[in-house]
Amino acid sequence: MRLEGSCHCGAVRFSLTSRHPVPYQRCYCSICRKTQGGGGYAINLGGEADSLDVSGRSHIRTFHAVMHEEEDARSEAERSFCGQCGTALWLWDKRWPELIHPFASAIDTELPVPPETTHIMLASKANWVEPSIGKNDKTFDGYPEEAIAAWHQRLGLEDGDDD
Ligand SMILES: [Zn+2]
Ligand SMILES: [Zn+2]
Repeated sequence: MRLEGSCHCGAVRFSLTSRHPVPYQRCYCSICRKTQGGGGYAINLGGEADSLDVSGRSHIRTFHAVMHEEEDARSEAERSFCGQCGTALWLWDKRWPELIHPFASAIDTELPVPPETTHIMLASKANWVEPSIGKNDKTFDGYPEEAIAAWHQRLGLEDGDDD
């Protein structure tokens, strides 16, 4: 499906094609929490990098998160945000250049409601965050076994090539 997104102030607008648009995966790591996840977690979607259209690109700023474990080490992932209002937009990683991961919070298109949720990086969550874990949800202290594409395939929710 085609996803439309924007930052809060409207300086940046974008759209992209996503076969994996279900906002099912909550990441509780400190990077997601501080940069994007006010409720304790952030949600990334799976999209196709070469389908990304952006207006207001000059307002975009990027950074590579500091990995606290190893001093001075930076994440390979490049995070983009609006330099005017600070809205987190998407994550892109040169190790998987064909993929792009927009934050669900920046998407304006109505997204499918996830039938189950995966909770990841729970070992890094803040003490005050109480994850709401449903009956079929999966939980991981670190990264999950299942990639975003595989989750959609297992549940029959991969979007077709209709656009
Ligand atoms: Zn903005
Ligand atoms: Zn995270």
